[in-house]
Amino acid sequence: MINLLNLTPEELSDLLGSWGEPAFRAGQLFDWLHQKRAATFDEMSNLPKSLRSKLKEHCTTGSLNLKKRLVSTIDGTVKYLYGLEDGAAVEGVVMRYRHGNSLCISTQVGCRMGCGFCASTLGGLVRDLSAGEMLGEVYAAARDLPDGEKIGSVVLMGIGEPLDNFDNVCKFLDLLSHPKGFGMSLRHVSLSTCGLVDGIYRLAEKKYPLTLSVSLHAPEDDMRSALMPVNRKYNIDTLLTACRDYFATTGRRVSFEYALIHGKTDSVQQARRLATLLKGMNCHVNLIPHNAVREREFSRSTPRAVREFQQELEKAGITATVRRELGADVMAACGQLRRES
Ligand code: SAH
Repeated sequence: MINLLNLTPEELSDLLGSWGEPAFRAGQLFDWLHQKRAATFDEMSNLPKSLRSKLKEHCTTGSLNLKKRLVSTIDGTVKYLYGLEDGAAVEGVVMRYRHGNSLCISTQVGCRMGCGFCASTLGGLVRDLSAGEMLGEVYAAARDLPDGEKIGSVVLMGIGEPLDNFDNVCKFLDLLSHPKGFGMSLRHVSLSTCGLVDGIYRLAEKKYPLTLSVSLHAPEDDMRSALMPVNRKYNIDTLLTACRDYFATTGRRVSFEYALIHGKTDSVQQARRLATLLKGMNCHVNLIPHNAVREREFSRSTPRAVREFQQELEKAGITATVRRELGADVMAACGQLRRES
């Protein structure tokens, strides 16, 4: 079966053309799939019945079923467990901010990066998601929102390492922003990486206007290598050089994620070291109080340590925000729901 969400307008034209369909059918079908986000072929009322049955026989609309849907009673965060065609599952989260809804999606089933504090990597990498499956996550969430509500931004911060699935992620970004499709401006997209430096250089070449988020989490190589095996391949200096290059090439300010883990990454000295590292860079630091994961031994910094860490950065002229915890009652931290199921 062909997942039609994987096809560009040109690829869709080629497919329908090879079936002897007139050229305008591909445009109609693309519209049904990406603008109207039809979940079934039966909805596609302006396509002849014969074409609809042929589509049913050979293709899928790429619509994902929601295996689970948990709504936070604290803040309205919605957590999804999406079922994929092969029986695998990934997670997505809709975070409801005053300025609009933000959807966090997964890019792989599992992850092979091995970060010591993260639930998503515990079972290793199962497989990459296709571009169509990532779009399926967006469209299923869009269909699920109440009438009149939209997905205003998409963050690639769920399960998986986006730059470890580079080509599919780029195809996803091209389709997501296609003017005849969902049409989301990539200015409203953030891509988070653990620091795959070769991928950062490749991404810079694409000149997408998205926000690159880099998971830094420690200001010294020994601690970062202990927490994040990727640091043994690309150390902090190599990573920050790539980030500076990214800004120079794209003009887009890089954002750094920094998890505050009690006794590991949250000392005032580390805040100072971080400030020294980032000095003069056009960047933003997002402090994430660590979410405890059942299988892991790390715990969260105290509110006081979080405050002091942030103040130390601001003293050095680095803008730092503390990520609000959302959906605490629905396991919004990535990877936990999939493991549970
Ligand atoms: N692979 C990408 C994106 C997925 S993780 C990356 O590493 O950036 C999204 C963010 O959540 C990353 O910054 C990741 O390090 C962080 N994270 C993972 N587990 C966490 C936990 N238990 N508590 C706090 N942050 C966590």
